[in-house]
Amino acid sequence: MKVMKFGGTSVGKPQRMQEVASLVTRDDEPKIVVLSALSGTTNALVEISESLANGDRNTAKQQIDSLHGHYQNFITALLKTESALHKANIVLNEHFEFLTIILKISFSEALNKDILAQGELLSTKLFCIYLEESGTDHVLLPALDFMTIDVHDEPQVGTIKVKLAQLLQKNKDKKLFITQGYICRNARGEVDNLKRGGSDYSASLIAAAINASVCEIWTDIDGMHNNDPRVVKKTVPIEQMSFDEAAELAYFGAKILHPASIWPAQTYKIPVRLLNTMEPTAKGTLITEEAGSVGVKAVAAKDNIIAIRIKSSRMLLAYGFLRKIFEVFEKYRTPIDMITTSEVAVTLTIDSDLHLNDILKELEPFGTTEVDKNQVIISVVGNEISQTEDIIKKLFGSIVNIPVRMVSYGGSPHNISLLTDAGHKVQILQQLNKGMFGLE
Ligand code: ASP
Ligand code: MG
Repeated sequence: MKVMKFGGTSVGKPQRMQEVASLVTRDDEPKIVVLSALSGTTNALVEISESLANGDRNTAKQQIDSLHGHYQNFITALLKTESALHKANIVLNEHFEFLTIILKISFSEALNKDILAQGELLSTKLFCIYLEESGTDHVLLPALDFMTIDVHDEPQVGTIKVKLAQLLQKNKDKKLFITQGYICRNARGEVDNLKRGGSDYSASLIAAAINASVCEIWTDIDGMHNNDPRVVKKTVPIEQMSFDEAAELAYFGAKILHPASIWPAQTYKIPVRLLNTMEPTAKGTLITEEAGSVGVKAVAAKDNIIAIRIKSSRMLLAYGFLRKIFEVFEKYRTPIDMITTSEVAVTLTIDSDLHLNDILKELEPFGTTEVDKNQVIISVVGNEISQTEDIIKKLFGSIVNIPVRMVSYGGSPHNISLLTDAGHKVQILQQLNKGMFGLE
């Protein structure tokens, strides 16, 4: 059995959704199809939720009506028959009525999660109506019946496996299953989600739970590229890479794959294929345990980085100093991305300013702190690159004119990261494209 996940742009237009239907019926292999919300929907739901949180019901009402209009046009173009349109209208009424009713309820975090879940519920139901209209046998598996997270918001593959196996067992004779990405149930049994962009994570968890032959992630680009196509003119897709390389790239800026989606596939040894809905015959990128080749594969940039330097003569010859500093970040659940140390100072980076003031306050007893906002991490990723001959010469040789604030080398053999001012991002990515890949 395989898993095929389609992102928001792949189902965002009626014609695209129809193409997805033909992609999932191309072959006979049993499959679970995981869908995101139509592109733009989750953002719209976030806005509706924000309006409600601010007590601005009029704005929320307008936002709901405009989203409803969008879906009305969508189904008209998607479906042909009266009866399918009738069913789709019932689905829209059900979900938009829910959104209208919540206008009258007082806002809460649980309600917010319910609002955010509407996108995936709608996309999968409409897709199923289209499949039915085209005479394609299928089953809708509600993600809320099997995708669960524990008290620490961590999905438990073991539990998902048992629940999913039961549901599949009930439909033994079926081959095509449709489910929602992103949404899940939390430990309190409430509707929750796997965080923005989490549909990839859903797909990978499902693939791990059913021991899938492959987890296909269908997007609007032909795989992971060697550089950011939005920033540099010429990029090339990477045919094969390891989970380790993919994890580095996904975490350090490649938007194509949610970073959390790597571990389930890697742990359960499920190959992941990144494919393009607009160009289904393109090879895309295959991610497996093996890297395929040694050497630099890609560069990526992670934006909105904050660097914090903590300087203290007490660090000299002391032990336990770093632990105390790390505990502050742990307390505020703020992950550290990069770290470099000297004997009297340590600099580390974070990607969220949510708790910055509290963190700085708690760091005060340890020394003086300096903060640089608007930084960007540039990561150069490739299997065993830290051992690749001349890598440093080539890397720094191609960016001699750009001031580098911090360097991380050797943490992982597959990654060298630099920190620089956000203003240098475009230039550094362009120069690395030329220097490391010979591409303009
Ligand atoms: N619809 C959700 C989002 O936009 C999940 C996803 O698309 O992966 O974040
Ligand atoms: Mg995505």
